[in-house]
Amino acid sequence: MDLSLTEEQEMLKKMARDFLDREAPKSYVRAMEEDERGFTPETWEKIAGLGWLGLALPEKYGGSGGGFLDLCVLLEEMGRALLPGPFFSTVLLGACTLLEAGSEEQKKEILPRVARGERIMTLALTEPSATWEAKGVHLKAKAKGADYILDGTKLFVPDAHVADDIIVVARTGRSAKPENGVSLFLVSGKAPGITHTVLKTIASDKQCEVVFDGVAVPARSLVGVLNKGWPVVEKTLQRAAVAKCAEMVGGAQRVLEMTVEYAKQRVQFGRPIGSFQAIQHYCANMVTDVDGARFVTYEAAWRLQEGLPCAKEVSMAKAWTSEAYRRVTALGHQIHGGIGFTKEHDMQLYFRRAKAAELAYGDADFHRERVAQQMGL
Ligand SMILES: Cc1cc2nc3c(=O)[nH]c(=O)nc-3n(C[C@H](O)[C@H](O)[C@H](O)COP(=O)(O)OP(=O)(O)OC[C@H]3O[C@@H](n4cnc5c(N)ncnc54)[C@H](O)[C@@H]3O)c2cc1C
Repeated sequence: MDLSLTEEQEMLKKMARDFLDREAPKSYVRAMEEDERGFTPETWEKIAGLGWLGLALPEKYGGSGGGFLDLCVLLEEMGRALLPGPFFSTVLLGACTLLEAGSEEQKKEILPRVARGERIMTLALTEPSATWEAKGVHLKAKAKGADYILDGTKLFVPDAHVADDIIVVARTGRSAKPENGVSLFLVSGKAPGITHTVLKTIASDKQCEVVFDGVAVPARSLVGVLNKGWPVVEKTLQRAAVAKCAEMVGGAQRVLEMTVEYAKQRVQFGRPIGSFQAIQHYCANMVTDVDGARFVTYEAAWRLQEGLPCAKEVSMAKAWTSEAYRRVTALGHQIHGGIGFTKEHDMQLYFRRAKAAELAYGDADFHRERVAQQMGL
């Protein structure tokens, strides 16, 4: 199996690394943890200028027609740099979902503006039950005249505080199977009746509680087919899980590099600690985890891009990478000793994001269960 990148992907990777080193150093990452918005409009504009927001969108919607694998290459670099901001929510949760299920009119109106950096998007899926399954969708959308009225609460909605458009997953029908009766609506983030509260999170990212109190949306806001929205959500979750894995691989790779560098130069008992067998074995475990995570992630991304059956591969990737990134950061801390525990050191930035990413779009247990189902268990 050849997992090497194409020439264009190598160029994208190099350009992304140079840009992120320059424009998103750790001082920016730290400052954005405290910032109300979580990113600066200047950086967002530059990202749009590079064409990254439209990278995986077709040319007819203002994109450059790249594939999901290209997006994963870029996300790996973003995860390495810990780039803050609403890229993931806009592109993976918003634009890709609209591209998958939206009407031609919705796509023509929104996607070119996403590509130009003029619209920030997100997906409001999870609720206080915090499950990734259809049974967790309770927010109601009731038909009233030509409108739908949305009532309910969404929790852990990324970047809702800055979103121009929110794709809301709502319950439009009751049936024995919770997967039936779910619909998607494209709602303005500033619609009357919507309030958001930015939550305090371990990764200091911007996840929100969003309350919908009698929010009226016209019937043409429906994304896809009434009551048949859950398969669309499932596909979005698959893409998001693999995309999150790509980010995690990038973060884990950087932790590995930082740690190996440190083990080579930190001297204790008259020798670099990297010459002690215990430290060598820790590093060997780290690289095995990082490379293993990269292999399963790109295998899943490739199958997803090619439209091949990929449920097992997607869940294997998320189950493995969720735990691998956390193991890598834990060993990174161990090898750094006391210094790695300080706030000034970058290790804590990675560890906190590893913990958050572990849970996003299903933790390891959730995905192991799905792998087991795919094995007929
Ligand atoms: C949360 C926290 C609170 C602390 N509070 C205090 C405090 O109140 N007072 C205080 O004095 N100190 C305190 N410390 C410091 C602590 O005692 C030191 O961090 C610890 O002894 C490790 O030393 P170091 O950081 O220099 O790591 P190093 O000695 O550089 O060790 C780094 C890594 O190398 C490994 N290593 C080192 N030598 C060898 C060897 N010979 N063979 C194999 N592996 C080796 C270590 O196991 C570790 O994984 C605290 C540390 C932490 C994390």
